[in-house]
This record gives sequence, structure tokens and C-alpha cells, in this order.
Amino acid sequence: MGEPQLLIAETFGLDPPTFQGEGPSCGAPAMFIRLSRCNLSCSWCDTPYTWDWTRFDPHVEATRRSVAELAGWANSSPVELVVITGGEPLIQQRFLAPLVQSLIAGGKRIEIETNGTRTPDPELLIEGVRFNVSPKLANSGLTESQRIVPAALEAFTDSGRAVFKFVARTTQDLNEIEVLAGRYGLAPIWVMPEGTTPEALVVTTRAIAEAVAQRRWNLTPRLHVLAFGQERAR
Ligand code: SF4
Repeated sequence: MGEPQLLIAETFGLDPPTFQGEGPSCGAPAMFIRLSRCNLSCSWCDTPYTWDWTRFDPHVEATRRSVAELAGWANSSPVELVVITGGEPLIQQRFLAPLVQSLIAGGKRIEIETNGTRTPDPELLIEGVRFNVSPKLANSGLTESQRIVPAALEAFTDSGRAVFKFVARTTQDLNEIEVLAGRYGLAPIWVMPEGTTPEALVVTTRAIAEAVAQRRWNLTPRLHVLAFGQERAR
């Protein structure tokens, strides 16, 4: 077998530096490795250049990079948090394990962002790795059988290494989250308002904040949208 490689959409956070914009580490300085390809096609996807080849050219949007090169890039920064995101990174999880091991050896902690439809390899369920699992709701435009894979969700809940982060627009979305959380034992829950502009985020946040608080769930902004708008790779 040759040197392990991953299909990458973009890496960012070295120069200019940035931070994790969502979830439990919101606001923390972070490096990002965004993998190309996704197995879903959410209507509001904010990274369609990882999978929508009707609008983007895969030869332009994706490059093969070796695990050694990616680890060297991330480990050249003093920033402790590396976010591995997508697309859907677990499509390429076979070669994620060596990357994760190299990053941990470099003193990093890692968050893997996933849509929760792929069961994680045991090699990834290790100290220093947390999964930000974002199961999709009906507002994604996908059927339930496309977006909810019970065996995968159970593997994440059993791992003790996952938080569950949902994009919500309305209180109806929160009702849907409540059903999923009860059915699959999903916890802790983080809710993130949908919106790709600061103005839209304020509207959505106000529409759902009270109902999120009532349920004693966590609410996270989308700090990168507030700070940088729709600028790519920030
Ligand atoms: S799972 Fe994520 S990357 Fe894939 S289509 Fe949905 S929002 Fe986009």
C-alpha cells in the first residue's frame, strides 16, 4: 500500500488564523482540514463545493494530499485544536486514523464533524478525539432513511465521544430534535440557528432561543458567519 492520502477540499487556519465557529469549542482558535465528498445533499448545505458536481468542478475543488503533509501542516501551528470537517469526513475514515494519530502525537486535540450516517471506526474512538455529530432534520430536504442511520447514531452515543449538534430554523425543528434525542439517546444536544448571513442568524436565533432554553439544551452561534460573512476558508 502506498502512502495514505486524503481527498481534501481546503485547509485553513494557519495564516490567517481563525477559530472554531460552532459548538462546544466555539471561539477557540482552530485549524481546519476540510475533506471533499459527501454522501448527502442537504438543501441548505454551505459547503456544496465538496460534493455538488452540477455546480462545481471536482478537479478544481479537490486535491489529494498525503497524511504526512496534512499532519505537518497542522503541527506547524501552536494552535491545539484541529477540526476535521467536510463534506462528510467519515467517507474517507480508513485514512483518517493515521492522520489523527500523527496529530495527537503532535499535541493536538481533534474534533471530527460528521453527519452521523457512517459508523465510526474504533481506531478513531480514542483519547483526544471528539465527534461533533450533526444528524440532519426534515428541513434538509432529505428523506429520513437518507439522513438517519440508527446503527451509526447508536455507535456515537455508545462511544461517549460525541456531542450532537443540530441546525434549526423553527420550533418545529426543535420538536423533531426532541423525538430523535429520545429515540436514540442523543446527548448532549447543541442547537445552531440556520443562516448564512448575520442578519438571517439574528432572526433565526430569536425564533428558537427561548424554546432551546426551555429544554435546557445548549445554543451555539455560527461565529464565523457573524465575523466573516460568507467568506470561504475562514
Ligand atoms: S451533510 Fe453536511 S456537507 Fe453533506 S450535504 Fe449536508 S450540510 Fe452539506
